[in-house]
Amino acid sequence: MAQIIDGKQIARLVRAEVAEGVALLKKRSGAVPHLAVLLVGDDPASQVYVGHKERDAAEVGIDSITHRMAAGTPEAEVAALIDRLNADDAVHGILVQLPLPGHIATDAVIERIDPVKDVDGITPENFGRLLASEAFLEPCTPSGIMELLRRYDVSIKGRSAVIVGRSNIVGKPIALMLMREHATITVCHSRTTDLARRILEADILVAATGKPRMIEGPWIKQGAVVIDVGINRMPDGKLVGDVDFDVACERASLITPVPGGVGLMTRAMLLKNTLKAANKALS
Ligand code: NDP
Repeated sequence: MAQIIDGKQIARLVRAEVAEGVALLKKRSGAVPHLAVLLVGDDPASQVYVGHKERDAAEVGIDSITHRMAAGTPEAEVAALIDRLNADDAVHGILVQLPLPGHIATDAVIERIDPVKDVDGITPENFGRLLASEAFLEPCTPSGIMELLRRYDVSIKGRSAVIVGRSNIVGKPIALMLMREHATITVCHSRTTDLARRILEADILVAATGKPRMIEGPWIKQGAVVIDVGINRMPDGKLVGDVDFDVACERASLITPVPGGVGLMTRAMLLKNTLKAANKALS
C-alpha cells in the first residue's frame, strides 16, 4: 500500500523557511519582499487562486498587492502596468494570473515581465535558461514536485520518469527538471499511442492532463512514485486528480493526494521564488 505524500506538511515547512528568510532579509535590509499580482477579469477560479496567494504571502510576511483590472481592459493598459511594475524597485515579483481574457495576447504580456521579477518562471528567458540548464526563477508547479521528491528522498538518477502532459507550465518543465537530475524521461500527450504500456514502465509518474482519473490503477508499475498534478472538479463538487487514486494506491510506493499534494506546493514555491527575487534585488 502506498505511502501518501503529505503536501500539506511539506508546504508548511517551505512556508516556515520562507518566513525565516523574510525576517532575515528585513533585518539585513529593512525591506520586505513585495509581490505584485495582476488579475484581469472576473474568472471565479482565478479569484480564488489570487485570494490564496494573498493569504499565503501575508502568512510569511511578504507584501502582496493585487492589481485588479476589468475584463475589457485593453492589452496596452495591462502592458503599461507591467512596465510600471518592472521599473519600480520596490516590487520584487510580478505574477500575471492566467488565463487572461481572450482579447489579450498572453504570450506578449508574459514576455513583458522582467525575467528577474518573473516569480512564475514562465518568461521566454527563464524558460530558455531552464532548457539549457537552470534558470534563476523556475516555474512553481514543477519546482514544487521536485521539492516533494527531494524531501521524500526519492532517487531519480537513472530511473525511468514518464510525464503525461506537455504544457509549458507543467509537463515540459518537469520533464527538463527530472532529466537534469538524470532520469530517463518519456513525455506523453493526447496523441501518444499505447499510453498504458508506457506508463507501466514509469518508476516516477507525473500526471498532468486535466482529465479526471484517466490514468487507471493497473497501468501503474508496482512500487512507482506517482505525482498527480491534476485538479478536476467533479459534478458533485469533489476534487479529484488525473490518476485513479484508490487503485493506484495498491501499486504505488508513494503517491500525492488531490487535494493536499502538488497544489499546496505550487503555492509555497511562489513564496520561495518571491523571496529569492527580493534577496537578489536587495543584495
Ligand atoms: P493543459 O491543458 O495545458 O495540458 C494538458 C496536457 O495533457 C496536454 O499536453 C494534453 O495533450 C495532455 N492530455 C490531455 N488528454 C490526454 C490524454 N487523454 N492522454 C494523454 N495526454 C493527454 O493542462 P495543464 O498542464 O495546465 O494542467 C494539467 C492539470 O494540472 C489540470 O488539471 C490543471 O488544473 C492542473 N494543474 C495543477 C496545478 C497544481 O498546482 N496542482 C498547477 C497547474 C495545473 P496535448 O498537448 O496533445 O493536447
